[in-house]
Amino acid sequence: MALEIVQVPLLTDNYAYLLREPKSGLVGIVDPSVAAGPLKAAEDRGWAISHVLNTHHHWDHTGGNLEIKSATGCTVVGPSYDADRIPGIDQEVSEDAPFKFGATEAEIIFIPGHTLGHIAFWFRKEKAAFVGDTLFAMGCGRLFEGTPEMMFASMQKLKKLPDDTKIYCGHEYTLNNGEFAMGLDPGNAAIKERMDDVYARRAESLPTVPSFMGEEKKTNPFLLAPDVKSFAEVRAKKDRY
Ligand code: ZN
Ligand code: FE
Repeated sequence: MALEIVQVPLLTDNYAYLLREPKSGLVGIVDPSVAAGPLKAAEDRGWAISHVLNTHHHWDHTGGNLEIKSATGCTVVGPSYDADRIPGIDQEVSEDAPFKFGATEAEIIFIPGHTLGHIAFWFRKEKAAFVGDTLFAMGCGRLFEGTPEMMFASMQKLKKLPDDTKIYCGHEYTLNNGEFAMGLDPGNAAIKERMDDVYARRAESLPTVPSFMGEEKKTNPFLLAPDVKSFAEVRAKKDRY
């Protein structure tokens, strides 16, 4: 049986994710900005949260940590690099210390740039990657702490994920990202085609996340940038967009 994944929309545009590993019954919540929504989503399904998984330290990904931990006694898992900035952290993970989750496992991909300690949880067998605010659907996170070199290197790491990997990111930013991408590359038919779907979904308030790595490789300007210099230019343009 595969990992069960439930998207939990929080605040204006944040996504947290409930993960249930069916063999062990363990339940994780990825990047809870607040506690109430995730606790209710778990309770509605009769699930007991056993883990919080954090991709990076920002409050809109960790704000619910302590309340969820005191309500459930769960284990808080986060990047070793940022251990001092993750509220309530119990277990530090890194590329050398993957996250074992019942009968499955997440490999950790170190992807600094948005923050210096940012990681992705990659469930290889389940073809699912939780990438926080590093890679968005047709976009990437702002460089709050890292350099363009760092973020470009992180993009290259993520690009190695197989095309059929589902990319679960931290925010619903796709409409804005896609309009920026169309303006940047008006001749790109793959972006236009994808945007038809994005407009249709957003008109019904449906999520555009997750996406597949294969479509990101064809339509995400930050993955399409061939070198650091062009990556930095696209990032700077997007910052002013
Ligand atoms: Zn962030
Ligand atoms: Fe965020």
